[in-house]
Amino acid sequence: MTLSENDIPDFDFHTHRHDIAPGRGIVCLSQDIILNIGGGTWRPREGGLYAAGVHPWWTAAEDFDLAAHIGGLETLLRLPEVVQVGECGIDRLRGAALECQRKVMEVMVEMSEEYGRPMTIHCVRAFDVLLAMRKQLRPQQRWTVHGFRGNATLARQLLESGMDLSFGKRFDTEAWNTTPPERRHRESDAE
Ligand SMILES: [Zn+2]
Repeated sequence: MTLSENDIPDFDFHTHRHDIAPGRGIVCLSQDIILNIGGGTWRPREGGLYAAGVHPWWTAAEDFDLAAHIGGLETLLRLPEVVQVGECGIDRLRGAALECQRKVMEVMVEMSEEYGRPMTIHCVRAFDVLLAMRKQLRPQQRWTVHGFRGNATLARQLLESGMDLSFGKRFDTEAWNTTPPERRHRESDAE
């Protein structure tokens, strides 16, 4: 099943665009905003919804410094408008070494639990790691795998582990049909 470019979901679970109508979707905040929040140049729009977390791609940078992100994330997660921790997770293609990514993800899970914010998960070729972490950490907060393109078998595994799924422009129809309506989301992932 595919959606056309112009097909915008009623509620956009995951986008990077700040110009959507406030409250009609969750806007994922950039690294720049997270690192510079102390400068006070960014503020949430009234009624806006946002996600803030360390993207797995950022961990691959030579000068990646997890600690530099923590203060900004703490500030952001105190805002009522910042409703999700994310996107964060594990990416075997474009992230740092697995151990580093796992450590970052553990910190993100801690923050999600501490601030009572569910997580938006980015996962590429690492669902085994993700499932093991969920089992090991036993979080109270909901995790939603965004941009899910896997098959129905993987969908069922994730759902059974307590994760929800968000579907973008391309996805497996059987996986979509397998997911209970109240546990599936739509997203544009627009840049
Ligand atoms: Zn995204």
